[in-house]
Amino acid sequence: MNDRIALPVAVIGAGPVGLAAAAHMLERGLRPVVFEAGATVAANLESFRHVRLFSPWRYNVDRAARRLLESAGWQPPPDEELPTAGEIVDRYLAPLAALPPIAAALQLSSRVESIARDGFDKLKSRGRDEAPFVLRVRTASGVREHRAWAVLDATGTWATPNPLGANGLPALGEREHADRIAYGMPDILGAQRARYAGRRVVVAGAGHSAAGNLLALAKLAQTEPGTRIVWTIRGHDFARIFGGGENDGLAARGALGARLRALVGEGRLEVRADFKAEAIRDEGGPLAIEGRAPDGSRVRIDAVDEIIVSTGCRPDLGLSSEIRVRLDPWLESTEALAPLIDPNEHSCGTVRPHGHRELAHPEARFYALGAKSYGRAPNFLLATGYEQARSVAAALAGDLASADDVQLELPQTGVCSTQFDEAAGACCAKPETPVEAPIAASSCCGGPPKSRADACCVRDEVAKDEGKSGCGCGAEPKPSGKVIEASCC
Ligand SMILES: Cc1cc2nc3c(=O)[nH]c(=O)nc-3n(C[C@H](O)[C@H](O)[C@H](O)COP(=O)(O)OP(=O)(O)OC[C@H]3O[C@@H](n4cnc5c(N)ncnc54)[C@H](O)[C@@H]3O)c2cc1C
Repeated sequence: MNDRIALPVAVIGAGPVGLAAAAHMLERGLRPVVFEAGATVAANLESFRHVRLFSPWRYNVDRAARRLLESAGWQPPPDEELPTAGEIVDRYLAPLAALPPIAAALQLSSRVESIARDGFDKLKSRGRDEAPFVLRVRTASGVREHRAWAVLDATGTWATPNPLGANGLPALGEREHADRIAYGMPDILGAQRARYAGRRVVVAGAGHSAAGNLLALAKLAQTEPGTRIVWTIRGHDFARIFGGGENDGLAARGALGARLRALVGEGRLEVRADFKAEAIRDEGGPLAIEGRAPDGSRVRIDAVDEIIVSTGCRPDLGLSSEIRVRLDPWLESTEALAPLIDPNEHSCGTVRPHGHRELAHPEARFYALGAKSYGRAPNFLLATGYEQARSVAAALAGDLASADDVQLELPQTGVCSTQFDEAAGACCAKPETPVEAPIAASSCCGGPPKSRADACCVRDEVAKDEGKSGCGCGAEPKPSGKVIEASCC
């Protein structure tokens, strides 16, 4: 019997995308084995179960998983309702994991520590592609090796947050003061309430997690006198975090930015923009954060009781260090995916459809899926991961026609901040939006193209009609891909 038939496809991580991958594999007649580090599925979502997502149920349930669940009598939650992360676990992922074919594939409390090609170190090429993989898996009873025909790394990035230091390294003193620093989204209004009530809290970051933390702290401050909030960001591009408001395809995401803008306008936050943190010092009780302003001068935030670092996450690349992966040098996604998701170029939140080809590595039959596939890029959405899982499962099953027919329906953010400018023939002028200025009333690129198949948005279309090279929104459209609702801008 050959390895393709005899060995399972290993899925690492039983988050929403890992479980979706298992469902697609089962539909394709492939045999998944899912290793999950946590004692239950979706351990990362569990850690922020109090957070309400900004995408409604209709974007949060994978289609193959839905088919499996519905065949067992599952009642889907209302399409337009916004679940919390905890509800995603309770109402969708836990029932999915309990279905007999998924449950049989699941190995909980099983952390994959490394992946290799069985009998081949990284240097050895001849015969490599035909060899199975070997995974080293740690459980309570020790480390065991498992062989697999293909490997899908769906481990996410949530457990490896970016540090406070603006240069990407932990700020000096960050590790020493770990007891006063939280990463991501602590439960400010619930389990962690006493920790933040009546304190001066610094939130660092310019993404949705930072916005959620600031809003929670502002609510806390209404009932807990003495709670003071400082918001620090490394740059001054408030447009990106305030977002597209009512133009956002996800109303809740738009509202998040709009509410934050209102808090700033009302003076309920102390805003420290252009603050590049370098060190945390102990001031004999309170902490001080030292940093630099753009002109190189030293700046400080004094009298800090608690710090919440919401500066994004990065992938743990240790897992794949013994196999052949080719990554974009700074995003740490695949090279093919990078131009589609690079936040230096886009904050559109909408990406071109992509599947097994964009996710492929030199190591045959190894893919990173889900949040991990985006490396350090912050805009990952579940719907993207589900389509990745569908395409990769089809490719592994040998159905290339289906694998290449990538379709992705994503809501637009309604805000776009590329670095390209009008003079350079680009479509998305960077919105220079000071705190008080209104956000542009329409999607910056005018929405999807009207007629040209090679354009990503209206302004790209106009530029190309005028003989210009286009807007620079990203890679050329893939011949196999279809954007159903949203274009890249
Ligand atoms: C606060 C927040 C809000 C978000 N809101 C939305 C939203 O509204 N809409 C949306 O579409 N997306 C949203 N996202 C983005 C995205 O949907 C989530 O990050 C989602 O959890 C990604 O799913 P995943 O399966 O790729 O990874 P994860 O959910 O991170 O799952 C990874 C799994 O792998 C396991 N694991 C990790 N390492 C190992 C290992 N070595 N061995 C075995 N198992 C391992 C983990 O325990 C975990 O269960 C949000 C993200 C965050 C952080």
